[in-house]
Amino acid sequence: MKGKPSNLAIVSKNNTLTSTKPDKLHQHNITNALQTTLEFDQLITIFSDKIQDLIPHDGCIYRNDEFNLDFTTGKEAHHSCNYNLTIENKQLGNIKLMRRSRFQHQELQLLETLLCCLIYPLNNASLFKQAVNQAHTDPLTQTNNRAAFNSIGTREINLALRNGEYLSAIFLDIDHFKSINDNYGHACGDIVLATTSKIIRKCARNSDLVFRYGGEEFVLLLSNTDLSGAQLLAERIRKEISLHTLAIDMETIKITASLGVTTLRVTDSLETFIQRADKAMYLAKSQGRNQVNLGN
Ligand code: GH3
Ligand code: MG
Ligand code: MG
Repeated sequence: MKGKPSNLAIVSKNNTLTSTKPDKLHQHNITNALQTTLEFDQLITIFSDKIQDLIPHDGCIYRNDEFNLDFTTGKEAHHSCNYNLTIENKQLGNIKLMRRSRFQHQELQLLETLLCCLIYPLNNASLFKQAVNQAHTDPLTQTNNRAAFNSIGTREINLALRNGEYLSAIFLDIDHFKSINDNYGHACGDIVLATTSKIIRKCARNSDLVFRYGGEEFVLLLSNTDLSGAQLLAERIRKEISLHTLAIDMETIKITASLGVTTLRVTDSLETFIQRADKAMYLAKSQGRNQVNLGN
């Protein structure tokens, strides 16, 4: 069974859910289990496990465009059934169950009833993820903030070391930023920060992580990128920043930045890794600013 996904929505009217006939005991059991987590992947795994006896299946795929999620439990198979999940017009992703034999009509009816148990937990997971994303975003530059750096940085290092992959860092500091604030005012300094962040994000790949590390300091974490790849990107960012002219009121302002580049060593912690990039950036400053320095 293949084809377009069905739409499954819950609409609450006077706190009453309109759903198909409930199988109360199973629903109760599944709902309890789904209350234990706010992580999307865990919710899907629990749901898939809990319905396995009722609707046997080989695998399950969940996709959510809003958060760029795409994961699979079990394995893919020829027959599938596919549902777009929504709550009051809000998209909660798409779930697809797969197996070697066709899904029967009665099984699909039961599945639709049981999927209703998944919708509110998915909505809670979605609200939670939105809140975490907001808490990890710097509002001025729309980059990840320092709190995000600490958790995401550690995760990226662990991933790179476990998979034996490159991880490189660029430490960028705007040159003479204090004098921009002093000469043109703090509001103008803020525009410079937002513009610098835009240039960095335009130069970087989607998979590159950009953080506002401090006042006028940005850090980029580049997975699967060696030192020379990171150097190329750092040089491109440096050039783009130096070529940009900011027009604020009747003034035109040119800015430059100094950048330090390093790549992860097996002995590194997040601290030693970033300290090396920071040290390289300071060398770039001491050697005349508006340049890239390599830390390895
Ligand atoms: P250098 O070339 O050596 O990096 O000089 P600098 O002036 O850029 O460095 P310094 O560390 O002396 O100054 C950084 C300034 O950044 C001081 C601080 O007031 C300013 N700053 C920090 N956060 C913000 C912010 O959010 N907005 C604005 N407008 N300024 C900020
Ligand atoms: Mg600084
Ligand atoms: Mg500076």
